Amino acid sequence: MTTMSRRFLHSLPIFLLMLALMSLTGFVAHRLAEQLGLAELQATGLHRLDLYSASLEREIGKYAFLPGTLGLERDVLDLLRQPDGARLAPQVNAYLEQLNERAGTLSIYVIDAKGHVVATSNWRRADSFMGEDLSFRPYFRDAMATGSGRFFGIGTTRGEPGYYLASTLVDDSRTLGVAVIKVSLDQLEKTWSTVEAPAMVSDENGVVILGSVADWKFTTLRPLDDATRSAFDQTLQYNRRALKPLGLQELAELDHGARLVRIARASPEPVSVYPVAGRFLAQSRPLPGTPWTLTVLSHLEQVDDMVQSRTALAVVGAAFIFMLGMMLDERRRHLKAKLAARAALQKAHDELERKVEERTADLSAANQQLQGEVAERTAAERTLRAAQDELVQAGKLAVIGQLATGIAHELNQPLAALRTLSGNAARFLERGDTDTARSNLERIGHLVDRMGNITGQLRAFARKSSGKAQPVALCRAIDNAQALLEQRLRQSRAEVRRHCPLPEPFALCDANRLEQVLVNLIGNALDAMDDVPDPCIELDVTVAGDRVRLSVRDHGPGLADEALAHLFEPFFTTKSAGAGLGLGLTISAGIVRDFGGTLTGANHPEGGAVFTLDIPLADETARHE
Ligand code: ADP
Repeated sequence: MTTMSRRFLHSLPIFLLMLALMSLTGFVAHRLAEQLGLAELQATGLHRLDLYSASLEREIGKYAFLPGTLGLERDVLDLLRQPDGARLAPQVNAYLEQLNERAGTLSIYVIDAKGHVVATSNWRRADSFMGEDLSFRPYFRDAMATGSGRFFGIGTTRGEPGYYLASTLVDDSRTLGVAVIKVSLDQLEKTWSTVEAPAMVSDENGVVILGSVADWKFTTLRPLDDATRSAFDQTLQYNRRALKPLGLQELAELDHGARLVRIARASPEPVSVYPVAGRFLAQSRPLPGTPWTLTVLSHLEQVDDMVQSRTALAVVGAAFIFMLGMMLDERRRHLKAKLAARAALQKAHDELERKVEERTADLSAANQQLQGEVAERTAAERTLRAAQDELVQAGKLAVIGQLATGIAHELNQPLAALRTLSGNAARFLERGDTDTARSNLERIGHLVDRMGNITGQLRAFARKSSGKAQPVALCRAIDNAQALLEQRLRQSRAEVRRHCPLPEPFALCDANRLEQVLVNLIGNALDAMDDVPDPCIELDVTVAGDRVRLSVRDHGPGLADEALAHLFEPFFTTKSAGAGLGLGLTISAGIVRDFGGTLTGANHPEGGAVFTLDIPLADETARHE
């Protein structure tokens, strides 16, 4: 599965969840916003209703007392009271004309108890009401019956719509007639010029008599039956106007008498500053003192807009909160992972540190052990060195043992000569031959010196040396070795060929031990040439760089294969018991190694064995010391 599809599958439930949450939020927000919007609209509507009805009442109230005040006019009462009252008509007419003008009403007139107009403000006009029978008019009838009448109607004479206010004219509890004031609706409508929403006033028949939309006037809010229509024809209330329906359809009943209504689109479309078709919230209230109803319409479009925008806002907000939540969750998870990683790292670090500590402890233990071992090794080496020193010494003593017979022989001869010379010396002294005695004594002195030399050399050789390296004159060391072996050399009649370069080279070693090595090598050479007719030993010293090489070659049979293989092994010897221990070369090699040199044995191409010493050359300063 690819990473993409895995990620998609992982985020699909989250996406669906978000979608569900958004839908739910949208639904709830829509409902709430709608309710809220309607409530707000209702509140605004109620406020408008209050405002508009107050202004209407004020406007109507202004004229309410006007018809009644006519009853205070003597002329008016006389006109109705006296049989010849008609003569007062011109006077009253003039008065009414004046009053009408001042009050700004449409017309003011007086009707007698039978319903005939006896005086009117419009008496001058050709279509004046004078003499007209208005007994059929409901306001007249109402006034005659109850004392006052109010009526909306369209004038029968001029077809002018107006509001009729009627009041009885009474004289000593006798009804003389009715005073009527007709107020133009335009007057009332003027107050509505500033309304912000469509409003209308409908009369008791459901006919719109006043509307903020001009075209709504004389439309019906509910269907009229034939009986009602024929009644209108009788009273001429609407002066036979068509009375088309407004097209208002009730959708739902709400609280506080509010309704949801729809007004159908009319053609031609009425001219208006606000929408006149569509869904509205209709709120109505009866106008006090009239049979009329004031209705304020609030268009639902603004609520719809608001509901939509609030719903959208809620949905977007929900999505945002959801995503924020997701982000926070992601962040929390990320943080958790980070903390876990850090903890793991810390753990690994601690583990590492613990291991390092462990290893360090191990290491120090190992170090201690190693130190112990080194100490042990040093002690062992010391023991070994001591043993080796002992061995060297033993080797020396062995050589001395070998030399002993020769030396004894060497000393015997001067001792015998000493005895003879000393005996002779005594006799010459007795004879008085002091000269000969002196010469004898001098020879005795020489012999003693020679014997002292021999023993001195032996002592020097036998001495335990320190083994400390110091510059040693090589040729002198060879001299000493030769001197020690003088008797054997003489006995074997071996020729010694020496080659020593000049200036004499100095080797960095111990003189005594070097002599021991040389005595060993020369001794072995002499042993090897026992049966050779012309024994010859070649001693060669050469300098190469910072090394000096000393070779001892004999003209014997050379080294056998077995001897070559085991030459430097202790106790390897081909000699008869008592003649050799097989330690000579072992000790010699050890001595040379101690000076930082090597001892090798080989066969010379022209026959015989050749042993080569390779030791460090002492430097100039050391040599001068
Ligand atoms: P040893 O002289 O007591 O035998 P060495 O260690 O000096 O002990 O010599 C070991 C052996 O090496 C001798 O026994 C001999 O076989 C052989 N060897 C040493 N030097 C020579 C030589 N110059 N020629 C022939 N063989 C030799």
